[in-house]
Amino acid sequence: MKVVHRRLIGIDGIAAPDVFWSASPSESDAHPDQNAGRGVGTIDAMTPEDALLRVIHCLDRAQASGFKTKAFVRALDVVRSTDPAELEQRARNDTLTDLDGIGSSTAQVIADAVAGREPAYLVDIEAKSQVEVSDKARPYRDALRGDCHMHSTWSDGGAPIERMALTAMAIGHEYMVQTDHSARLTIAHGLNEERLSEQLDQIAAVNATIVDAGHDFRILSGMEVDILEDGALDLSDDMLARLDVVVASVHSKLRMERQQMTERMLQAIASPHVDILGHCTGRMIGKRPPSDFDADYVFAACAQFNTAVEINCRPERLDPPRELLRMAVEYGCWFAIDTDAHATGQLEWQSLGCDRAADCDVPIDRILNTKPVDELLEWTRAAA
Ligand SMILES: [Zn+2]
Ligand SMILES: [Zn+2]
Repeated sequence: MKVVHRRLIGIDGIAAPDVFWSASPSESDAHPDQNAGRGVGTIDAMTPEDALLRVIHCLDRAQASGFKTKAFVRALDVVRSTDPAELEQRARNDTLTDLDGIGSSTAQVIADAVAGREPAYLVDIEAKSQVEVSDKARPYRDALRGDCHMHSTWSDGGAPIERMALTAMAIGHEYMVQTDHSARLTIAHGLNEERLSEQLDQIAAVNATIVDAGHDFRILSGMEVDILEDGALDLSDDMLARLDVVVASVHSKLRMERQQMTERMLQAIASPHVDILGHCTGRMIGKRPPSDFDADYVFAACAQFNTAVEINCRPERLDPPRELLRMAVEYGCWFAIDTDAHATGQLEWQSLGCDRAADCDVPIDRILNTKPVDELLEWTRAAA
């Protein structure tokens, strides 16, 4: 595992030039699984900020209630805006809860960290929130080298790009694709061309920092681009061409009539820029039924145009459903097992998609993100 020094993490989504990520050479050969799920801050005593971030990571991977997570996110904001000396004094005097936004649980985590103890709350949640990899999922999980669908604070994610990258590295990935939403999804603060362009600059800067620090890890550029109602993509061809990996997804008018929806999807699948079809049915388990489309046409087109079918790992999506996934396997499609993570903890959800892939006999050699980064890029460029 690459251990990343706790004090040197970019904060608030800005890749400061002095951000420096250091690897511990003695541990760099360890099998990633030994440290699976361990994030940053493992070298020496945690700061209160590290401890709260790790609690949030664990709550997110365990899908804890938004209420609980929010309390820790709020406490994190308070810690970041409070002088460390004041925090220490308040921890000693037991007056942390006098600060607006600090409750008894968050105060205890802060107090433990200030005292140099591993917070008991964190030890507990760390153990309880482990994401298990089943025996059937194991060969798939072991084969995965990256994750091609995730969000950051640039759109509706909860963590800046650097923190997503640090977590992806910590769980053993060789690369990740940053795929924030496109402009049409205003509710998710989708990126217009100008902001996407800025994001590409930031990704380049963070990648340079990663290389300087000696890590073998790369952030690929991408976007989860909306498939508009007429099948057009919510981004210009020029910008699409600049991206390493493009995920295209339907987010609006999910109840569209079958033939229209099929044509809409086919047009996106056939686009030379689209590499992956995101969460194809749009279902939310127990909340929203799958969209209606002709799966034969859709998967035949995915196979023909080399557009990979995403196996979306989010527990509420697990999209496509098994029956459709088996159909896509029969059509000889490519696949990508992606978390669609909106928080660092959710990057650990790949094993859920691996379970699904195992159930449906997805051939491991048809899964895009088992490819080394250079081969993946060759594939996306050839498909373009
Ligand atoms: Zn989506
Ligand atoms: Zn997404």
